[in-house]
Amino acid sequence: MTDDSRASERLFRVMERIGRACARAGRDPSGVTLVAVSKFQPPAAVSAMYARGQRLFGESYIQEALPKMEAVTEPDIEWHFIGRLQKNKAKFAVGRFALIHTVDSLELARTLQNRALAAQVVQPVLIQVNIDAEPQKAGVSETDAPALAEAMAGMDRLALGGLMVLPKALDDPEAARPAFSRLRALRDALVARLGRPLPILSMGMSGDLEAAVEEGATHVRVGTDLFGQRKDASDPK
Ligand SMILES: *Cc1c(COP(=O)(O)O)cnc(C)c1O
Repeated sequence: MTDDSRASERLFRVMERIGRACARAGRDPSGVTLVAVSKFQPPAAVSAMYARGQRLFGESYIQEALPKMEAVTEPDIEWHFIGRLQKNKAKFAVGRFALIHTVDSLELARTLQNRALAAQVVQPVLIQVNIDAEPQKAGVSETDAPALAEAMAGMDRLALGGLMVLPKALDDPEAARPAFSRLRALRDALVARLGRPLPILSMGMSGDLEAAVEEGATHVRVGTDLFGQRKDASDPK
């Protein structure tokens, strides 16, 4: 198969999986957005997916993303940032990414707020939650999430849209389901507490997108099953 027909086939299969999970859950497929995770993929791979209709791409590393975003010149592309964001890189992310999925500390939120103020933009963001409480993993703890959400709700240059989770990597596609349902429950609790909508749940990847969609994901982040195995095996996620 050529690269192009492979891109078509892969995109079709992922959309089909999302569609079937929606059917099982009685959800409208238009409520689930596919973020094509293009980290470690060259600009040509992004363009090939674009040619098949995909418009939204996710990147994890600022230093890799910026040149790629310059190189891909197709119109109407939307980029999301889904990786760990260091405070000293925040200025490169603000205003360039339509959504930053990974705010996990008050310091980072404040830095983004200040950068967005300086750039005169409002930056859409999500809070990343470390649901499995893994020590080395990014994300705010479930316990600390309400205080962070409250603080961010008061930052006028951040538009807090919801929550993101990257659960423990396990072989069983069903293993992450409890993490997904806990993220949704946490979101519901925050909505009640803040008295404002938090419509976005960013959860589910190549291996477990079905469980995530059944548990209410609005954004699934899929890399491997769209682009094939990444060349760089050192990606820590
Ligand atoms: C790499 C990455 C993904 C995509 O993972 P796949 O298993 O390749 O689909 C999703 N979310 C985040 C945060 C990632 O870093």
